[in-house]
Amino acid sequence: AKYLGGNNIQFYNVALQNQTQYHMEIEGDLRKAMQNHELEVFFQPKVNVHTKRIESAEALVRWRHPSRGLISPSEFIHIAEDSGLIAEIGKFVLLKSCQQAKKWADDDIATITVSVNVSAHQLRHENLPQAVGDVLKRTKLPENQLELELTESALMENLSAATALLTKLCALGVSISLDDFGTGYSSLSHLKLFPVDALKIDRSFIRDITSKQEDEAIVNAIIVLGHSLNLKVIAEGVENIKQLELLERLGCDEIQGYFIAKPLSAADMTHMLKQQTEF
Ligand code: C2E
Ligand code: CA
Ligand code: CA
Ligand code: CA
Repeated sequence: AKYLGGNNIQFYNVALQNQTQYHMEIEGDLRKAMQNHELEVFFQPKVNVHTKRIESAEALVRWRHPSRGLISPSEFIHIAEDSGLIAEIGKFVLLKSCQQAKKWADDDIATITVSVNVSAHQLRHENLPQAVGDVLKRTKLPENQLELELTESALMENLSAATALLTKLCALGVSISLDDFGTGYSSLSHLKLFPVDALKIDRSFIRDITSKQEDEAIVNAIIVLGHSLNLKVIAEGVENIKQLELLERLGCDEIQGYFIAKPLSAADMTHMLKQQTEF
């Protein structure tokens, strides 16, 4: 038993060491990635259920790593948060997203809203209203074409600060969406407190919505609640037509997911928007 125990600890140490090493490697590479222009913003369309048109798109960062290939944000955003690099990445994504939305409008391709994810670290450490105001001024993007996606758990870290921050962002004229809605703590009391415009139902509730009665009931309740508070309700992770039809029936306002399109490069998104104008 002693031998086994010792062995297990050794395995554990090796695993931990590998993880730490990976973490450090990624962190080092990420610092360089910004300078080497390896980060890129992709866009995933959101379709308005009533007009059936793309009226907004979520900006999702991608990393073209020179040796590891395309790395998903779920693999590096938390590392970027821990090291503070997220500040720089966040500013980059915000600027690129606003520039792109302005370009689509200027080129007469489409006038759509871009939704940019904001992390907990950005809420804690940055003057977000200032950064957002600066980018809007710099890119000349109308403020109603920018939406920020924030999670409840990020806002929860400091309730009074969060309320003040949201009030300032609201005054700038940008929209606020509560991301991953339903997965955080005691959502309901915050809805009264936070000046938000939209609820984004977490993908985990959408996945089995057509087979699990409970999931349908939860999604239905979120939509009714959102609408009674005059909020727009968005569903993410819609992968098939059955999910889409059910969400439509339940009164969901916007749909996002692989069934419409995967996150696309700016060029591919431009192509998709162009096709839409021809309808
Ligand atoms: P999120 O904000 O919940 O973004 C939605 C995620 O779901 C995206 O993953 C998207 O590609 C994926 N998705 C969309 N439709 C479907 C679908 O139909 N099925 C499935 N299975 N997945 C779908 P992605 O791009 O890998 O991003 C993961 C997370 O990383 C995001 O989750 C967000 O929390 C974070 N993230 C991405 N870009 C940024 C960024 O620029 N800044 C910050 N702070 N976080 C970001
Ligand atoms: Ca999001
Ligand atoms: Ca989400
Ligand atoms: Ca999510």
